[in-house]
Amino acid sequence: MQIPTAKVLINLSLDRCFDYLIPPHLCGKVKVGMKVMVPFGKGNSFREAYVVGLGSIEKTLEVEKGYKAVLEICANFPALSDNMVKLAEWMADYYCCAREVAVRALLPGAIRNGKIKEKTKKIYFLPDTGKALSYIEENPRAKGKHAVIQSLLKRTGTDKEYILFDAKVSAAVLEDLVKQSIVSYEEITVERTKSTKVQIIRSKPHTPTEEQAAVLKKIYEKMDEKDSTSTHTVLLHGVTASGKTEVYLQAISHAVELGYEAIVLVPEISLTPQTVERFRSRFGDMVSVLHSGLTENERYDEWMKVHSGKVRIAVGARSALFAPFRNIGLIIVDEEHDPSYKQSEAPRYNARDVAVVRGKLENCVVILGSATPSLESYKNALDGKYLLCEMKKRTDESIVLPEVKIIDMRLEADDDGRKPVFSKFLIDAVHKRIAMGEQSILFFNLRGYARKLVCTECGAYQAECPECSVAYTYHKRAGVLRCPRCAAAVLAPEKCPQCSSKELKYIGVGTEKIENISFEVFKDARIARMDSDVMTTPRKYEETLSKFRRGETDILVGTQMIAKGLHFPNVTLVGLINADIGLNMPDFRAFERGFQLITQVAGRAGRGEVPGEVLVQTTLPFNPAVCCAANHDFKSFYDEEILIREELQYPPFGHLMAVHFNGEDPSLVMESALELMEKVLPYKDETTLYEEPRSAHFERMKGKYRFIATFRYGNLAPLRRALRKEIFSSVYKRKKIDIYVDVDALSLL
Ligand code: ADP
Ligand code: ZN
Ligand code: ZN
Repeated sequence: MQIPTAKVLINLSLDRCFDYLIPPHLCGKVKVGMKVMVPFGKGNSFREAYVVGLGSIEKTLEVEKGYKAVLEICANFPALSDNMVKLAEWMADYYCCAREVAVRALLPGAIRNGKIKEKTKKIYFLPDTGKALSYIEENPRAKGKHAVIQSLLKRTGTDKEYILFDAKVSAAVLEDLVKQSIVSYEEITVERTKSTKVQIIRSKPHTPTEEQAAVLKKIYEKMDEKDSTSTHTVLLHGVTASGKTEVYLQAISHAVELGYEAIVLVPEISLTPQTVERFRSRFGDMVSVLHSGLTENERYDEWMKVHSGKVRIAVGARSALFAPFRNIGLIIVDEEHDPSYKQSEAPRYNARDVAVVRGKLENCVVILGSATPSLESYKNALDGKYLLCEMKKRTDESIVLPEVKIIDMRLEADDDGRKPVFSKFLIDAVHKRIAMGEQSILFFNLRGYARKLVCTECGAYQAECPECSVAYTYHKRAGVLRCPRCAAAVLAPEKCPQCSSKELKYIGVGTEKIENISFEVFKDARIARMDSDVMTTPRKYEETLSKFRRGETDILVGTQMIAKGLHFPNVTLVGLINADIGLNMPDFRAFERGFQLITQVAGRAGRGEVPGEVLVQTTLPFNPAVCCAANHDFKSFYDEEILIREELQYPPFGHLMAVHFNGEDPSLVMESALELMEKVLPYKDETTLYEEPRSAHFERMKGKYRFIATFRYGNLAPLRRALRKEIFSSVYKRKKIDIYVDVDALSLL
């Protein structure tokens, strides 16, 4: 005889499945994707576990003795769909992480821990009016109860508060009637999410432009055909303001009309009220927005709305990809090149790539959109893996792309080679815009007041984070030094801790300093700053933006925060203070990032009637990233950069995988790294390039020394599997060395 079994993952990072017997009373009830309780370990304490498979086993004495049984099903846990279980399995294998970690990534904490439950409310009614009326006749003196019944006769289906208020009785009276079955109640779920009181103005779809119509036609064809043999992924390459978002909105409408659900991913930083409103105004309550500002309770409610089918569209950052829809027709990844789609902790997945995999599992269409596609996606499109759709014109053709001027900062240097922060050209340009009542944006990608604090007296002191061995950044307004790596903060010293001199000097600039210089140079201008130092709450963010939108600010100084997604028609000048910062990084993607950044920042200028002007300050005026971005020429940049990648066999030619080793004792870390590598190297493909463990560019982080080994090109799958087996070995845990694999690593620093 066969006994049914369940294959489960225990909620510990063991990366192992265990088989449990399913007892007769749970037969047929235990399903894949459910959470169950199982006895585990020596003391047989109970643990939570996810069911990832079902099977059966021949009933023998040994089996009955050796196997433990599932205790119960966690009833308040909404089961994962089969496709989601498969997706977790794929992620664990591909991203080389424990399976439990992959399953956990699919679920928000609020759902996983089962602590939050739906907020319910009891709604009272009279199940039998005749019976209630006879009760009044039979109990003439129960005045309070009469009042309750009268109240419910007048208005059935109300809550306790109302009844008690209306009948002027205590709760005991109502409860008594419930006990006697004169009154019944029903529990309904109530939403905790504050419904926005503001009236949302519904927007109507625009009549598509020729380019949009052509793209939509192709997308609809894909959606209608559901042909699993052809590619299901579309790469939409459209210049800024070419109407990509409008394409997304119309494609979603089409999917919803066909009865499907849709997911839209945007980078967290672009998940602004402005973006959200575009979806809300088109689809109203059909949309659920999953952003990081939600409380645990709200997150729970939003997730349940998706799970129960109350909404059809989910919009959110990275993790919204795991919205538990069961009939998805469309997944959209906006700004697909954005590095924030890659999660920096395990499972180190890239939501853009997992979106393509989920799309395949769900047999639905995936749209990757960008004005500056990643080299990976663009090559996939050229190779025919994705369908390439292009939009080269802005929707309003009278609004031309801004003119980008490159300012060679080498020519601005004084006799000692010191370069000013603002070039004369930039200063003149900003003055001109202020005079004309137009607005400017000054972009600088580092925050703080100064990059370094040093002592000029002894020359030996530089303020450094003791845990990370990098220079502290100085934040003047707050009076603190902050580590740019681990964010630890200390008070800035008044004198040198080594020689007690007060000759402390601040070197290098950040946004706070740029703001200060702006106050000096543009005396009467109204200036605001936007970076994570000052934008500590969503309200401050909204306030600063509204002021800017109303034209009450002339110059906005900021970081990345102002580079994305914002639409200000009156901004006619954008100054990129130092384009070299990113380009000088020792990273093979530095030029690609630089190109994307310049294009994106430039896209903020001239979105209204007055043509925009962009000034790029650089000491690398002939760098291809700078030149191609200035010419709005993605294709030339791609053609040039792809040659270098091919030559060096870097992605998108093959994949890149980094193995990280972190620990307190550098020699022990190195020793373990070499030991582990020796075990896995036999699985290396001949064509794969291997770089031995070496000290990382950022040598230390939070007191731990960091070492990295890399593999790239060729078939990495056997290596990945060998690595996965090894890294969970307890040997390294005992030595207190963290080892992890970063597949498709975005940064090797
Ligand atoms: P992108 O996402 O490519 O930057 P958007 O979708 O934001 O572009 O479009 C830019 C502007 O053009 C928006 O103000 C949008 O409302 C408008 N727009 C989009 N499509 C059309 C259209 N077919 N006709 C008129 N205006 C449009
Ligand atoms: Zn000193
Ligand atoms: Zn630090």
